[in-house]
Formats: sequence, structure tokens, C-alpha cells
Amino acid sequence: TIVIGVLALQGAFIEHINYLQRLRPAGHTIRAIPVKNVEELSQVRALVIPGGESTVISSLAFLTTGLLPALLEFVQDPSRAVWGTCAGMILMAEEDGVGGGRKKGVKGWAGMKGLKVWRNLYGTQLESFEAPLLVPSLSSPSKPFNTIFIRAPAVHSLSPSTATEILATLPSDLIPPPPPSDSPLGESNPDDLGKVMIKQGKKMVTSFHPELSGDTRVHEFWVEKCVLGR
Ligand code: GLN
Repeated sequence: TIVIGVLALQGAFIEHINYLQRLRPAGHTIRAIPVKNVEELSQVRALVIPGGESTVISSLAFLTTGLLPALLEFVQDPSRAVWGTCAGMILMAEEDGVGGGRKKGVKGWAGMKGLKVWRNLYGTQLESFEAPLLVPSLSSPSKPFNTIFIRAPAVHSLSPSTATEILATLPSDLIPPPPPSDSPLGESNPDDLGKVMIKQGKKMVTSFHPELSGDTRVHEFWVEKCVLGR
């Protein structure tokens, strides 16, 4: 049995647990458990950081005894599969790689190298939207995946690396306006803004919410490629 943890401090963790429990990867059984402390983190092989509110998730991680350092070690270990969705994608960014949002002080946990994100870039007007996207790496690739964006972060910039695979990109009419160029994060890269599903070794980020789509294919993909590595 492969035990997969879903960080359960705040946000959409129950949905991820339900989707993971529905998977039937060939030759394996999956058990998905909520992770709220160091003890639970030590029981899991891989971790999902869900959507929610990144400021709240990071404060709660800091306030829970020993949890933040244990999470940093887990997330930065190249042998660990970790997937961040939405707020979770923000937390996968580099330490000083988070911009935007009203509240200051979200630090990335540096799971994905060279990733800088901009919080809430889709802004009030497009706070929430859905778009059918073709994701060629999923099973049934010709069937669009209904991507759901809820006050989502966008990629500010992503250092080029041969280890990085861009798995889904928004069509140009849905790409948000660029973040301000005079921020501490520096100039954003317009070519990176529409990247909404990225894999780097055993790490993956999605700015949308696959756990609300009614479709388990992104979960299936992460388990096959990142957790089982096949
Ligand atoms: N806006 C949230 C944040 O900054 C992310 C929203 C989400 O996870 N749906 O953390």
C-alpha cells in the first residue's frame, strides 16, 4: 500500500483525499491520509499541498510544532513526490518567489526550482472561471480537462531547465495581464504567464483545482509519473 498525505491545515484537502482514494493504479493500493502534524507527515511517501489560502496554510504550518521545517525538508527532497494546487502551487515556489496579494509575508517552500508565482493574478473580474483545456499527457488526451481557477496564482517566471515539463498552457485570451515589473520579484516572463500545469522531476504544480473537476485524470497522472515514476 502506498500512503499519500494531503496537507490538511486548511483548504480543499478532503476533495484530494477522495480523488486519490478512487484511483486504482495497476499493482498498487493507495491510501490517502490527512497530514496535520510531523507524526502524520512521517507516515507518508508523497504529499499533496491543496488549494486554500496560502497565507493561512503557511501560518498554521509555522504554528504547528516542528511542522514547517519537516515540510521544507520533505518538499525539497528530490526523491519525494509533491504536488501543489493553487495555494499549494504558491507554496511550491522559491523562498523569495511569491508576489502579489494584499497580505505580505508568504515564503515559498522551494519545492520547484526556479519558480516564481504571483498570487491572485486573475484578479477580481476573473476571480473564478472554468476552461476546457487539452492536456496531452493525460489518459484520453483528446478529451478536454475542465480546469477550474479560483482566485488563482499565475507563474511570474520559471527558469528554463531540462528537468521541467510544461503540461498545460492557457489559450492567449485567458492569460492574465502581467504582474507589475517593479516588484521585488523582478521582471516577469510573459511566455510563462499561461503555464498552468508544470512538472519537474517528482514535483508538480497546477494553478487550477483538479480535485473539483469531477475528473481524476490529473491525480492519476501525478500518481503514475511522480509517485510511482513509471
Ligand atoms: N488566492 C489564494 C492564495 O493566495 C489561492 C486560492 C486557491 O487556492 N484557490 O493563497
